[in-house]
Amino acid sequence: MAKSQNGYDVIFASGDKRLWLWTIPGCDRHFRLRRGPAGFILCHFILWFHESITRLDTGIWDDWAWHVKPIAGQTSGYSNHASGTAVDLDAIKHPLGRRNTFTATQMRAIRVRLRLYRLCLRWGGDYVNRADEMHFEIVRGPVACRALAAFLRTTPRGRRLAKANPGR
Ligand SMILES: [Zn+2]
Repeated sequence: MAKSQNGYDVIFASGDKRLWLWTIPGCDRHFRLRRGPAGFILCHFILWFHESITRLDTGIWDDWAWHVKPIAGQTSGYSNHASGTAVDLDAIKHPLGRRNTFTATQMRAIRVRLRLYRLCLRWGGDYVNRADEMHFEIVRGPVACRALAAFLRTTPRGRRLAKANPGR
């Protein structure tokens, strides 16, 4: 079975039951991502980003979740978007290959925030080679993600997210 970079199964059809159309409370955008812990972790972060970094539901739609395509610039392999375990936020403001598309204050806030996610979540802004500052992805397996999601579920944002996604 095809895997994305992080080892999760690639999902080829938008109607696949392993995907869920996540609602972000108070945000007029939705994200088709993996059902269960991986999607929950990403959406918990998205909700924080929307409330603390920049509103996502203004301007044109440039926030992307599940989609199947090879990793840009490579001829083989699937990006983590293909397994529904990666998101691009505010893609127009944070184009691929550019660094410092966020203010220093925003970057600091993102780095501090990422600690909450116990190494389950990685930011493309931390890539050593080509930066991808719009991009956030799951980099740990289901066991670690399940434990983290169980913790996040008890936080205020986790409770709001769970309530908004009863079938997740
Ligand atoms: Zn991406």
